[in-house]
Amino acid sequence: MGTGNCIFCAIIERKIPAKIIYEDEKVTAFWDARPVSPVHVLIVPRNHIATLNDIPMNDPILSDMGHAARIVAQKLGVADSGYRFSINVNRGGGQVVFHLHAHLTAGRDLGTFLITGAIVLATTWRKLVSRLRGTR
Ligand code: 5GP
Ligand code: ZN
Repeated sequence: MGTGNCIFCAIIERKIPAKIIYEDEKVTAFWDARPVSPVHVLIVPRNHIATLNDIPMNDPILSDMGHAARIVAQKLGVADSGYRFSINVNRGGGQVVFHLHAHLTAGRDLGTFLITGAIVLATTWRKLVSRLRGTR
């Protein structure tokens, strides 16, 4: 895919709208359109690079993306509490948009909430059953 029909290039060039939260010489960061957690920002190089596999040798773009992530995390107040910085590579790695990007995610998502709830329920149920059977 070239830059001509790339959705992230279009966002960077302001051809289609996005909630841009940070930008510098190398990187643009904007909110994900379908967030999976309360904080979900995409950290994107301004140059079109398709995947992590396509970063030219000695190109410091990952470092630039890491730097941008740190600033965005500080802005959103999650730098100290913690966040994830993750990159999907190619179809098997879950990549859907073929313009390199990192997901900055933080906060409790619905999946974590449901799993935690299920564990608490299962533990309570086991205790109850044990007590009814007269074991400990
Ligand atoms: P991938 O699976 O390629 O790592 O992630 C692509 C991400 O881009 C998805 O989380 C998806 O929600 C997001 N996305 C796709 N199209 C758009 C768009 O037009 N605007 C924004 N802000 N995010 C998008
Ligand atoms: Zn692009």
